[in-house]
Amino acid sequence: MIFSYPGLVCATSGKPYNMSLTLGQTQGALLNRKVFLDGLGIEYRDLVCAKQVHGDCIRWAGEPDKGKGALEHDTALDDTDALLTDKRNLPLAIFTADCLPIFLFDPQRPAVGLVHAGRRGTEQEITPKAIRLMQDKFNSRPGELFVGFGPAIRDCCYEVGVDLKDNFNYGLKMKDSRYYLDIILINKKQVLESGVKPNHISDCGICTSCRQDEFFSYRRHGAACGRMISVIMLR
Ligand SMILES: [Zn+2]
Repeated sequence: MIFSYPGLVCATSGKPYNMSLTLGQTQGALLNRKVFLDGLGIEYRDLVCAKQVHGDCIRWAGEPDKGKGALEHDTALDDTDALLTDKRNLPLAIFTADCLPIFLFDPQRPAVGLVHAGRRGTEQEITPKAIRLMQDKFNSRPGELFVGFGPAIRDCCYEVGVDLKDNFNYGLKMKDSRYYLDIILINKKQVLESGVKPNHISDCGICTSCRQDEFFSYRRHGAACGRMISVIMLR
């Protein structure tokens, strides 16, 4: 559980349960989803899933989207890396292995959001864009939003090429002549600049690469590894 408030369910799964219907060992993925989500009081057939492309497209999900991508990948929402909703009992899902899942919660409206923030999504400022869309769609006020960072590869392990130097003017750290990207720091800065209060931001602090025994890590296990599910829902 990333953070806990009455009326909110949010969590990220761990190994060995692959939750992806297209990547890694997909046999049993539906059952894995069912078992994990049952434990949270979420109906796995109601999940709203996205075909993630490391872009910056954010979609607002309503009742007609319920179950899209829940039982087969084909029906998942196209070209989407963040989902928002103000509907109750409409669980939003994203899938990651190293990329950063970001949970957004507006207790006033109420409304929720879930962002898949990898390096490219972060570069495209997908999280501030999601916050702006919550403002437009739900009249959310950034000062009232709560933001949670899930398990992701961190600056201890996320080595990148020097060519990324021009893409980020902060968040790139040098250690023993190698460059490491702090994707959490960058998103945190973006979120603060969007108007979220520092004491409304929580971070689970988990590095998926350091803790590869408990979490899928793209860097450690390769592209064919399984994916964790992150889920958020208003009750
Ligand atoms: Zn690490």
